[in-house]
Parts: sequence; structure tokens; C-alpha cells
Amino acid sequence: QGNTDHRGQGDPATRGSHGGIRVVTDGAQLGQREGQQRHDRAQQHEPVQEGPGAQGAEGERRQDARCGEDGGLAIEPGPLLIEQPQPLDPVEVAARLQVAARIAGLTSRLRREAEALRTANAALEGANKRLAEMALTDSLTGLPNRRHLLERLREAWALPQSQKQDFAALSVDLDHFKNYNDTYGHPAGDRLLRAVAAGWISRLRETDLLARYGGEEFCIILPDATLEQACAVAERLRSDVETQAGAAVRTTQGLKITSSFGVAAFSTGMLDPAQLIDLADQALYTAKKSGRNC
Ligand code: GH3
Ligand code: MG
Ligand code: MG
Repeated sequence: QGNTDHRGQGDPATRGSHGGIRVVTDGAQLGQREGQQRHDRAQQHEPVQEGPGAQGAEGERRQDARCGEDGGLAIEPGPLLIEQPQPLDPVEVAARLQVAARIAGLTSRLRREAEALRTANAALEGANKRLAEMALTDSLTGLPNRRHLLERLREAWALPQSQKQDFAALSVDLDHFKNYNDTYGHPAGDRLLRAVAAGWISRLRETDLLARYGGEEFCIILPDATLEQACAVAERLRSDVETQAGAAVRTTQGLKITSSFGVAAFSTGMLDPAQLIDLADQALYTAKKSGRNC
């Protein structure tokens, strides 16, 4: 009797597995033709014979199509499923609520972790930036260090010939600085280095670059400066040290601090920045040999 449809008996509205009404059609033709036949048989209390392959989903559709006819429900072409709301199962509801709460918890935890990650990334970026700055900065004076200076020089070297036509470098060294350290102590020597650097910075243009080259040696790059202009700058800076540096560090009255300068200007024959610095160093060496403070 597996192929026999007994649903023609009783109220169609109670035939769904959960007591609801289901209407499923695979087309108006099916509903109209077969539904009518089934209706007729049901009226005559005839069992309805299902053909092969009419079981499962297909069988379900045919029965439901007939229910549609019986119940007067609208049947539209194409797949259609109308389900009456089923009674709530408290166990299932509780389980679903638990799942929803868990999802909400996980979502907010994810948000918090993403936020923490963003904060950590920002801190890392800041730390990396500071590290990069530190790698290019002299910690005692706050000036660009030798590495920074060489980077800037290489950049300047890459400029077209016409833009580096007037480009000068100064090599500077404090005179008898070892004596100063020996007399007043290393911390006093540090203070003097800072005071000299600060004094020179205030005298230079923003486009100039003053770097601590190492120890008590400095290097200054002057873009847009001819050899004569660079010599004038060097003389001004030398004079500032002689007249002001001693007072700036407030050591013994009448203390005289001096510095020596070497000046060089870019020329078209130069192959790399090191040649310009070498030339300035040679001039500085000559100044030292000539009695210093010049
Ligand atoms: P010259 O006139 O020929 O340049 O003589 P100098 O004594 O200045 O040169 P020298 O090379 O003999 O001595 C340089 C001194 O600079 C020795 C070293 O202790 C000192 N020095 C180098 N770096 C620092 C520093 O960061 N702080 C202090 N206080 N001294 C330093
Ligand atoms: Mg030196
Ligand atoms: Mg020196």
C-alpha cells in the first residue's frame, strides 16, 4: 500500500507532518489536471494510485498540489512553498539563543582584538620611525650624524649638474679639545660640544645641513653657496666660537675656545660626494698646520 494515497480522507489542513498546510507545485498544469483527477477520486472514495517515481519530493508536490486545490489556496507556476509557522520547541530555541550569544561574544572579542592590533601597529610604526630617526641622529647634540650627512650628499649628487653648481662643504674641528676635556672634565666637554652645535645651528639657513661627523668634528653642507660665500660662512662660524662658546659653557673666565675650518666647493670633475668631503678635510688639515683658529 506504499503507493496508495489515503490523504483524500479527512481534512486536508491536517495532513502536513507537523499539522500545517504545505502547498508546493511544479506548475499550474500539474495542479489543475492531476489535482482535478485526485479530487474526483477522493469524492468517490477511490484510493489514488501513484505512478513510479512519484514518491519522495515529486510525490509530495503532487499531494500538495491537490491540497491546494482542496483548500482553495492559490497555486502559482514555479516552485512555491508556504509553511504555516510551527510551534516553538523550547529546547531548540534555547540552543539557538546560546549559539547567538556565543556568536555575539566572539564578534565583540574579535572587534576588541582588531582594535588592540591596530593600536599595537600604530605603536610599532611610531617606534620604527623613532628608530629610523635615531639611526640618523647624534644623541649628544641632536644633530644629523655622519650617516645622515652622507645620505643627503648622495641625494644631492643625484641632482642634475645645473642644480648642484654652487654647492659647498665645510669641515670643522675644535682646537685642542683634548686639553679642554683634560682640564674641565668630559661632561664639560660634552656641554661645550652641545653649545657650539646650538650656536652654529642658529647661524645657518634651514637648507644648510650641520652634522656631527664624529668626536669634536663637524661637517656643514651649504647648498647654493659659491666657494667665496662658503668661506664667508666659515669665518662667521669661527668667530662665533671664539667670542661666544667660552661664555656659553660658563667655565673659567677668559677661557678661549677656537675652531678650525676647511672649505671646498663642488666642481664638475668630482666623481662622488666623498671627493668633496676629502677636499674640505685637506683644507682643514692645512688650517690646523697653519696655527688653528682659521
Ligand atoms: P686638534 O686641535 O689638533 O684638533 O687637537 P684636539 O685635542 O682637538 O684633537 P684630538 O684628536 O687630539 O682630541 C680629540 C678629543 O675629543 C679626544 C676625545 O676624548 C674628545 N672627544 C671625542 N668625542 C667626545 C665626546 O663625545 N665628548 C667629549 N667630551 N669629548 C670627546
Ligand atoms: Mg679631531
Ligand atoms: Mg680637535
